[in-house]
Amino acid sequence: MPEMGQKMWMNVFMAGAAVAAVATAVVVWQRMQKTQPAQTRNQALGLLYEFQHAAATPLHALRQIAEHMAIEMHAGLMTEGKSNLLMLPTFVENLPDGSEEGLFYALDLGGTNFRVLRCLLGGKEGRVLKQEYEEVPIPKSLMLGTSEELFDFIAKRLVDFVNREGEEYRIKNKRPQQVRELGLTFSFPVKQLSVKSGVLIQWTKGFKIADGVGADVVTLLQSAINRQHGPKIDVVVLVNDTVGTLAGGRYWNDDVMVGMILGTGTNACYVERDLPSHAPSKKGEMVINMEWGGFWSSHLPRTYADEQLDNESVNPGQAGYEKMIGGMYLGEIVRRVLLRMAREASLFGGPVPAKLREPFILITPEMSKMHADESGDLRVVAKILRDVFGVQKTELPARRIVHDVCDIVTMRSARLAAAGIVGILKKIMPDAFDSGTSGSLKTLHRNSMVAKRGDSGKIVLAMDGGLYEHYTQYRIYMQAAVNELLSEAQAKRLVIQLSKDGSGIGATILAACHSQYRGQSHKSYETNEPSYAPHEKMVRFGDAHPNATKSQFTQYDTKPTNTQFTQYEKPSLRSSGAQSDRPNLCSSGAQSDRPNLCTSQSQSDMPNCQPPSQHSVSYIYGLNIFEQ
Ligand code: ADP
Ligand code: MG
Repeated sequence: MPEMGQKMWMNVFMAGAAVAAVATAVVVWQRMQKTQPAQTRNQALGLLYEFQHAAATPLHALRQIAEHMAIEMHAGLMTEGKSNLLMLPTFVENLPDGSEEGLFYALDLGGTNFRVLRCLLGGKEGRVLKQEYEEVPIPKSLMLGTSEELFDFIAKRLVDFVNREGEEYRIKNKRPQQVRELGLTFSFPVKQLSVKSGVLIQWTKGFKIADGVGADVVTLLQSAINRQHGPKIDVVVLVNDTVGTLAGGRYWNDDVMVGMILGTGTNACYVERDLPSHAPSKKGEMVINMEWGGFWSSHLPRTYADEQLDNESVNPGQAGYEKMIGGMYLGEIVRRVLLRMAREASLFGGPVPAKLREPFILITPEMSKMHADESGDLRVVAKILRDVFGVQKTELPARRIVHDVCDIVTMRSARLAAAGIVGILKKIMPDAFDSGTSGSLKTLHRNSMVAKRGDSGKIVLAMDGGLYEHYTQYRIYMQAAVNELLSEAQAKRLVIQLSKDGSGIGATILAACHSQYRGQSHKSYETNEPSYAPHEKMVRFGDAHPNATKSQFTQYDTKPTNTQFTQYEKPSLRSSGAQSDRPNLCSSGAQSDRPNLCTSQSQSDMPNCQPPSQHSVSYIYGLNIFEQ
């Protein structure tokens, strides 16, 4: 009995202990419920700091990158294969001067879309009388198929487009045109053999086409066109998108020396007068396609996300600069950072959302929407996290972290692009754009001629590409970095002009420059149509007078235009609203909203050239990141 009593007391004690243990566990669990988010938030914040540190682009690093770019340009130009910049001669010596006349076509194959264009040029008086384009998204399957499938698809769309050529493109009092001459803008690295032939060096920007490398891309397209048995179309010029952009800019402005793309990928070209023997030029100057996507420098801030992205890409170890800058990659870099935060710090609470594991699910336009979210509770960020990753509920601190990641990735891209621009300036005008630290570069350029320019003393860079065109904060960061890198006087000389769809329009104009009919009079074209004056073509960043007002940048808003735009398949940003009215102008709302923010005056006191909006400056600079 005493034993039983002992046992009973023992059981009571055990039960009591168990109850106490459960109660303690409940309290601890409850406490954990309260503390866990803070802990994971701190972990997420730690990962954010780590990423920010690894992706930082301080001024001294940008200077080194610019310097390195200029040196690599020189090396790539003088010695084939000795630089990570291919510096390809384009054989484009005849740049337009505005006198071109006639009806010309272009086909612009980018990384996301291709465009077919027609352009009726009316010479110096008439300029661009009419133009029209269609944009077609490139089906994903064709990016992974064969070159014949890709070119057949493109040729079919081109022939359909030519077949729909309206009467208004016909020459008055002349027989219908028998041959349509076309400029091909091909935005992949090509070793050019002449102005109308070139072999593909490699597919980039996510294209993994089994064949095509080593083939002449003009022959590939011409054969595909011929297989359509449609109207006669001759490919008369092959250009890179940067070259098309430069030519499109030069058509209006003699000071355009550089063409640049910030779209799916990135690249630049420029007019070189210090030519090597493998780039013979009667004129003493030629456009050089840098293929700067392949640039690499130890000063580039590479993070774990870049390493992962590169390892899993279709071209590992290549296009390192492009993978940090191009629109194809920015959203994907953000996704990779968020995935790590979700895995290691439960950024979104609970298990890692399945869709967050899906490569390239976050496209850069969506990322830029999150970045542009200025609402107090970041509701656009919440919506995109819901729509894209299926994360139904997010807390504001997590959304702020997401916003910061977008900011870091975009700022890095824009600043690296700016360093590249300054590198080009150092190469082509070492005396004017030397920072004082580049004695070596000056020596390299001892014998080089100063690039020919128009009379204004300006160096104009014509820019095309969806990333630059549609991403307002991107442009602001880029211009700010250019201003940081250059002195005020130098910054005033550089003009960055958006040449909307310049890569395609430039190819039509270059087709005119290389037409077999060049020199024959086309005065019978209808020239009584309104045309654009040069100053109306582009919105300028960087050359604004300090006291410039909005109206100075938007003076062309009400001019009539006869340009038509048609849209193929998916509606796209390209043809919406004001943009569709005025194809070659930078007329997107966001830009005209903030036309004069990047004046030279604003450089000194406001590095970002913009009054910081609620979310335009990274939260992580503030200490109370989680205070709501
Ligand atoms: P391509 O490179 O095919 O010639 P574009 O120059 O039009 O095409 O660039 C398309 C790219 O621009 C997209 O892949 C995307 O990365 C970027 N882009 C388009 N719209 C936006 C936007 N609103 N915000 C940020 N990036 C954008
Ligand atoms: Mg393009």
